[in-house]
Amino acid sequence: MNCAICSCSPVTRCDEFWFNDGNLVLQVQHTQYKVHRSLMSNRSDFFRDMLTLPCTTEGTEAAPLFLPDVGERHFTVFLKFLYSQWGDDLKFTTDNWMYVVRVAHRFQFTSALRVAMGKCDDEEPDTKLYWAEQLGLAEWEVPARRAAVLAFDLNLAELSTDLPAYMAIWIKIYRAREAVAHARLANLRRCVKVRDARNQVTCQHLIAALGVTLPRTSRQYLKATFDAAIAEGSSCKECMTFKTLTQESLLSWLPKEEDEFRIIDESWCPPSRADKSRKLDSLC
Ligand SMILES: [Zn+2]
Ligand SMILES: [Zn+2]
Ligand SMILES: [Zn+2]
Repeated sequence: MNCAICSCSPVTRCDEFWFNDGNLVLQVQHTQYKVHRSLMSNRSDFFRDMLTLPCTTEGTEAAPLFLPDVGERHFTVFLKFLYSQWGDDLKFTTDNWMYVVRVAHRFQFTSALRVAMGKCDDEEPDTKLYWAEQLGLAEWEVPARRAAVLAFDLNLAELSTDLPAYMAIWIKIYRAREAVAHARLANLRRCVKVRDARNQVTCQHLIAALGVTLPRTSRQYLKATFDAAIAEGSSCKECMTFKTLTQESLLSWLPKEEDEFRIIDESWCPPSRADKSRKLDSLC
């Protein structure tokens, strides 16, 4: 049997998900599935709405219901998940869970989406960010963006992909990192001024080590990076008192995390010209 849409490619049945007692025939790319209406419409708002429409006549062997925007590979993995039972050991890879996220998001399988997103929690923030943007997953985008920027790891050159969408994300990550680095240096200068005003000594070695450490280090590596910087630089008597700076006291040299989040979000979505001119208008 040839595909009804392109009529040149043959259509195959997915053996694993062709249930003889199924009552809904779906086609994804060139693979057909015979599944159960009640299961699909119980789990998905998309299918519930679709299958209760009186004008929906597709879904039979003669006229399968075509599902756009997902691949057969994704959909087969998704059905493995949907038809699994409690306690089944699915042995899914993170990529597999990402397929489930894709299909679940596209066709509004709310609880499947929640479970699959949870399984991808350990995924690198830039990967999440990529998928969040590709799929329009607002739930992931903002936290993943902030985590990717503040991790301060990985160089663009180390990226193993040249997907343009992925590169575009990394350019935004770098731009936001620069904005955070500027804010951190400005904050360092402010802290030194405050200490001066209180007659607290801040020796040049400490300032140098903080200047190396603060702008581009993730919070979790502050102590290790600072210790290395202090050990490498020269020192004086006053320095000795700083050599034992704790993680806590190092954090106090950084801007508040919420302020950094705001800087990142603003760098990510700069206010458009239209917004700016509207603001100016409202001032007049
Ligand atoms: Zn076709
Ligand atoms: Zn969503
Ligand atoms: Zn010193």
